[in-house]
Amino acid sequence: MKITILSINTQMNDEIELVFDEKIITSGQVLFSDNFCSANKDHKLIIQSNAVKDIFEFIEWDVGKRSDIRVEQGGVLLGKRFYDSTKDIHFAIVSKAIVSENADGSSAFLEITPECWRTIHDKIDDYKLESGDEVVIVGWFHTHPNMLPVFMSGTDRSTQKLFFDGDNTYSVVINPQRHLMKAFRAAECYPTQAFFLIPEESDVEE
Ligand SMILES: [Zn+2]
Repeated sequence: MKITILSINTQMNDEIELVFDEKIITSGQVLFSDNFCSANKDHKLIIQSNAVKDIFEFIEWDVGKRSDIRVEQGGVLLGKRFYDSTKDIHFAIVSKAIVSENADGSSAFLEITPECWRTIHDKIDDYKLESGDEVVIVGWFHTHPNMLPVFMSGTDRSTQKLFFDGDNTYSVVINPQRHLMKAFRAAECYPTQAFFLIPEESDVEE
């Protein structure tokens, strides 16, 4: 696939000291990234349920297995970065997903134009103002629809290296039709342990 990103706010906030408690995080309903087991344990991505809901609704995860030709979709992940010095774990908690409705997608192509980025940045500003949540961009997500497996393509890797190369910065690739999800981290696109917290009383189905 091809993603053209022409501008982004690459501001990296400092990591805030916080203890990571996997038991609390996994006490509710949670989906793990498909590459969870092959990933190192020293970095983790946690996507809170409201952000998961936004992503799943946007990409129509809920409709289940389907074979109609779909286009690639994407957006950015907003949150905060943390460091647990007791366990030497870096992690990021995503509290909001910003979807890009006006991205120019095809079944194998997604262009996030400067206009898209303006819309995304407007949405980020609105969200920060309304919620008081001082978030930064900690990653991005996009879909590999139809029969495509989820992986970081050459172009995806270039995008990651150019715009999301922070050590505690993430990429999530999802196939909503085949129910596949993988997470990656840093310019090198390391497999990453990601937790997708599922909203309560949701009609999201495994
Ligand atoms: Zn891709």
